[in-house]
Amino acid sequence: MFTGSLLVVAHFHFQIVPDAGAAAAFNGQDVFIVPVSWCALNGTNVAAATPTPIPSGYPDTVNDNNIDTILWRRHERATDGYQPPNQPYIPGFQSQAGITFRSGIDKPREFGGGAAVHFQKVDDPTFGGTNGDEGYVRAPEDSSNAQEAVDILNRCLDKWRDVNQPRLGIFIINIKGFVDGQGIRLPTGAAVTMNLRGGGEPIYQKLILVPDNVNTIGSGINDKADLILAHELGHALGLDCSINNAPGCHTTDPLRLMFFGPTDNNGDSIPDNSLLTQVEIDRVRSTASRISPHLIDPTRPDN
Ligand SMILES: [Zn+2]
Repeated sequence: MFTGSLLVVAHFHFQIVPDAGAAAAFNGQDVFIVPVSWCALNGTNVAAATPTPIPSGYPDTVNDNNIDTILWRRHERATDGYQPPNQPYIPGFQSQAGITFRSGIDKPREFGGGAAVHFQKVDDPTFGGTNGDEGYVRAPEDSSNAQEAVDILNRCLDKWRDVNQPRLGIFIINIKGFVDGQGIRLPTGAAVTMNLRGGGEPIYQKLILVPDNVNTIGSGINDKADLILAHELGHALGLDCSINNAPGCHTTDPLRLMFFGPTDNNGDSIPDNSLLTQVEIDRVRSTASRISPHLIDPTRPDN
């Protein structure tokens, strides 16, 4: 049970509008594995008994049609990038920073590939009226409004404990969107990263709330590369106001991942701002280095 206090580190912002690669090398350096644990809020497409299929786009063209494949593909895109038709490749964290996000479903390490593990569905603790429809979350602009997000996190942690997963790393909740205190829906692309610390919990534990693919693909955002998620993962790995000091801890450069929102720079209607600077790469690698395990490049001369 998560019993500690929750700290919201002054970051809330609007964004308008099969293997993730086994190569253990990044420019002669270690590749870091960052564990992610997904939960889907009931009411979202992903949590439905028969979800609307999501076009994968990468690495093949097979549509994903269940909670495991749809959610797994999301952090795979953040890891491996995305290839739009007839347009330049949109790079992810692996090629730019030597970081791979791993979910641990299907083959939990502790059991040497034992019973299959699946992503978890959790009930929306409050909905209706000013709480919005099922699947919508009260925007946690500050700790006084964060109770619903905390309740959802607790349910997600409980679910993952039930399947004996580690509670280290980044927890990601798939939601429909956010509402304000009056139940009014906020812009579709809104997402948030929160810093969690509590009694007995690992120091490195982050929570991301991110909108479902059906709410961000085919809409005015058309976030096929899952850049909203990748952007939040950037914040979760330490890309804060000490790195970028434009409003919301962002950059003013629309080519970069940490611009305030997903942006189409080449006119193909698919947001493509995914670039990390060297300063950002150094920061995310430093953060990831504190999360075990990491893969050692076997060609390195010192091992
Ligand atoms: Zn942001």
